[in-house]
Amino acid sequence: MINKVLKLNDNLINQIAAGEVVDNPSSVIKELLENSIDANSRKIQVYIKNGGKKSILVIDDGCGMHKNDLINAFNRFATSKIEKQKDLENIRTLGFRGEALPSISSVSNTTIKSKQSNYEGHKLEINGGTQVDLRPDSIHKGTSILVENLFYNIPARLKFLKNDNSEYQKILKLFKVFCLSNPEISFELFNNNKKVYSFPSSDLKTRIVNLYGEDYKKSLIEVNFKIDKYLITGFVGNLSLVRKRRGHQFSFINGRYIINHLINQTIYNTYDSLLQRGEFPFYLLNIVIDNNLIDINVHPKKTEIKFKNEMQIQHAIKKSISQSLKNTIKVIPSMFVPRENFNNQVLDLPFNNNISNDITDEKIDKMFTDSTLSLQDNVKVWQIHNKYIITEISSGLILIDQHVAHERILYEKALKSLEGDGLNAQKIMFPITLNYDPEDFNSLLDIIPYLNKIGFDIREFGENSIIIEGSPPELLNGKEKEVISEILDNYIEHKQLNSSFIDYMAATYSCKAAIKAGDKLDDSECISLIDKLFATKHPYYCPHGRPIIVNLSISDLDKRFERL
Ligand code: ADP
Ligand code: MG
Repeated sequence: MINKVLKLNDNLINQIAAGEVVDNPSSVIKELLENSIDANSRKIQVYIKNGGKKSILVIDDGCGMHKNDLINAFNRFATSKIEKQKDLENIRTLGFRGEALPSISSVSNTTIKSKQSNYEGHKLEINGGTQVDLRPDSIHKGTSILVENLFYNIPARLKFLKNDNSEYQKILKLFKVFCLSNPEISFELFNNNKKVYSFPSSDLKTRIVNLYGEDYKKSLIEVNFKIDKYLITGFVGNLSLVRKRRGHQFSFINGRYIINHLINQTIYNTYDSLLQRGEFPFYLLNIVIDNNLIDINVHPKKTEIKFKNEMQIQHAIKKSISQSLKNTIKVIPSMFVPRENFNNQVLDLPFNNNISNDITDEKIDKMFTDSTLSLQDNVKVWQIHNKYIITEISSGLILIDQHVAHERILYEKALKSLEGDGLNAQKIMFPITLNYDPEDFNSLLDIIPYLNKIGFDIREFGENSIIIEGSPPELLNGKEKEVISEILDNYIEHKQLNSSFIDYMAATYSCKAAIKAGDKLDDSECISLIDKLFATKHPYYCPHGRPIIVNLSISDLDKRFERL
């Protein structure tokens, strides 16, 4: 049989292309929002029904289209955004391929109304790629696009759409990204006629707070950094915004949302010991760089990007974040000091005022050393509310949270024993036997050697059972089962015996074993706790990233009592 090579008709080409550009309601909305933003809109409204499957309506007040352009825009590769090859190197708009409108309208019932100022507005209707109506229409300046019955003519694709709620979730995620990358644009979202979001035009910080809540206001640290050809602005979150799961990390390159492993990793690394593995800080970075330093010609559906010089961008990001984070020290007291005792005042640390822009790591270290590490010779300690320990230092006083301090000490000890020979178990008077379901028991067998290392004396004991004959010396009797099942759950969920599992084990054990708020300590116990705390690698933050120490200097107190 001889195969004839035929030129496909345009509509079929568009339908095939639609598979590339749009595959669900949220990707339609992405294209429409990008067009509205490229059209310099100040206000954009999105209305969806049934997760966007029934209908999507995007209304903007942008530049609008002239009648001729309106028709043209639905032809494949028609774009007003680039004209010649050279333009590709200097793209300033989100769209440039001219593929979205023809694709979308070939797989739905699309009605578009558009008006440029000083020209008559028009309405164009396209069903499955075929123009069915074009007539003058009285609308305000701007464009509205209604996309109904997505994939009604392509059952195979329709089948792949998820239920309304999953499609709605994807839309919400996408919508938030656009709100965050364009705070100056006012956005509204309506789901099945109910208003979900309504954000006025604002600055970035206000937009973040509008989206995530008032709590964010005092926890956002500004990033504003310029180096060579890179301008990096935005916000990083302080430690109170650290989460156990991803989802609050945003990078935009020249206004385009991107997901880039290199950028994420660089930022996490910059937080360094402030974070544990498996903890994720909030950040939103707007990176502006020369287009010729990136490969922008990526797939429309993808959010990847290629940098021509990865080292350079890494360096720039690291610098910008570390400079901003040095100042997080300032934020610690406001999230930590028991407010009722201090009349809602945010305490200034003695070293706040010393922080200048050209701060170096050495300087920061020295400030810490000067202000906290020099305990007086004959130490005085006070435990207050069975919760915090106060002690004098040469420059003033420090407050220590006894639980997190102990947690830090136990954590480092547990880590060391997991990496080395292990802790010795302390025999328990009445051995405990625990039964498991067969599947969990199998997983438990994998981690028994690790549990042994942090000081559990455990062995198999009959079918699907273990016996605990010894436990870590610092763990209270009765806590064994709780610690083991938490560690087991984590292992079952991730099924990896990697370093983050080891960290998790150490953190779980130390959290459970540490003294609690409410535990009475005598002076010698307080002193021993402080001693051991300062012998750890990171006395300032607990394994979960919360601060351990708050510092109050004499000059601070003098200021407060108006002696200065
Ligand atoms: P691209 O965005 O890649 O240029 P599209 O198919 O998304 O391709 O859009 C085609 C053209 O239609 C755009 O170049 C633009 O001129 C016009 N257009 C689309 N949406 C709008 C809008 N909301 N406001 C003004 N013009 C628009
Ligand atoms: Mg477009």
